[in-house]
Amino acid sequence: MGFFRTLLIFFIFYCVFKFVLRPFLEAAQKKPAEKPNDQIPSLTDKIVPCPTCGTYNPTKQALFADGNYYCNLACVAGKKQETN
Ligand SMILES: [Zn+2]
Repeated sequence: MGFFRTLLIFFIFYCVFKFVLRPFLEAAQKKPAEKPNDQIPSLTDKIVPCPTCGTYNPTKQALFADGNYYCNLACVAGKKQETN
């Protein structure tokens, strides 16, 4: 029975190492997948003032109309009413 006992001990050790090392191996594999460069465009995004109310907004969220960036549709309509 000595051989089977040794085999069983090796199997238990294999299972323990598999469960213990799996989270570390998965964490190590996930790290290279992260792309820190994706955060740079949002940080370098232009912040422009709304011509109507003066609120500063990023160009991605602002509404582009008549050559200016507005914070919302109400400001676009308000600016048009002022000019007319
Ligand atoms: Zn506005």
